[in-house]
Amino acid sequence: MTVAELIKSATRPLFTFELLPPLKGHSIDRVYRAIERLLEYEPAYINFTSHANEVVYTEREDGLSEKKLIRKRPGTIPLAAAVKYRYNITVVPHLLCGGFTREETENALIEMNFLGIHDVLALRGDPPKGSRKFIPEKGGHSYTSELVEQIAAINRGDYLYELTGKQLTEPFCVGVAGYPEKHIEAPNMATDIEHLKRKVEAGASYIVTQMFFDNEKFFRFREMVAEAGIDVPVIPGLKPVSAMSDLNLLPQTFHIDMPEELVQELQKCSSDEQARETGIEWAVMQSRDLISAGVPGIHYYTLGRSDNVARIVKGSF
Ligand code: FAD
Repeated sequence: MTVAELIKSATRPLFTFELLPPLKGHSIDRVYRAIERLLEYEPAYINFTSHANEVVYTEREDGLSEKKLIRKRPGTIPLAAAVKYRYNITVVPHLLCGGFTREETENALIEMNFLGIHDVLALRGDPPKGSRKFIPEKGGHSYTSELVEQIAAINRGDYLYELTGKQLTEPFCVGVAGYPEKHIEAPNMATDIEHLKRKVEAGASYIVTQMFFDNEKFFRFREMVAEAGIDVPVIPGLKPVSAMSDLNLLPQTFHIDMPEELVQELQKCSSDEQARETGIEWAVMQSRDLISAGVPGIHYYTLGRSDNVARIVKGSF
């Protein structure tokens, strides 16, 4: 079943999580181990992140520096397919605008279709490190709404250079990202929501949010989404704090706020183990509150580690 079908037919909130493809040279067994720790909690589907090329400068023997493009975590689509068939579960590979031309996107979607993958989370990708501006590939998409339009066209059988008119027997179900604390580049929340609406009008069936630590921000966002006439399910995304450095790292990286109470609790911790325990308690508290507020599911960002998520799900669902 696709994510939209799973949400529609669910009799209780869905538990879902996302994993990163292993770093180059690392085995897929790590991913399997992370999944197996969570299987007993019956995840509805699993997302797999996508990682664009990074620019790396290396110093040559002659003292000049050399620019290289490297992709540290390749393999999102084949990894998702391996997991789908090993565990008989719905998988959602992330598909980025960044690093892809329209033609490469089309080919990736054709590959997914052949692999029996019918879900995708459409994203733009961040600007490269050290840069503030997102730069699309030549012939690629500047915004996710354009990527969603391309997927919707393929669902209708409209390919780039050929209108086959042959609709996919099982069209892609598309999810998109939403930001309860606003996307950093948007001038204000209302504009960001307008852009979110465009993604839904282009064909997205549901929204997954950026992580947040204050449920009130999610509830306000959900209201604004509804007020804007966006009527697709909104799935909250939670990231359990798992190290002391998260106190600064998460706000810096994801442009989100930490509530004062959580900051104070983390400041009392003297080890990563203690911070991890605090993170679990906070996420259980958030999850229970979200579930009682009727969310369709909760999506957990694992960043590759799943033991804390297992405890959170056990304590919340
Ligand atoms: P968009 O929807 O394109 O929006 C980007 C910005 O442009 C926003 O500020 C928006 O308001 C603005 N905008 C949109 N349309 C227009 C327009 N027509 N005119 C002017 N402005 C416009 N990144 C990865 O690299 N890999 C991943 O796997 C990944 N997974 C993620 C999963 C989730 C659930 C979330 C929330 C984020 C994820 N990201 C991932 C990060 C994401 O790529 C970044 O947040 C990125 O900066 C924005 O992506 P988007 O799809 O929201 O972009």
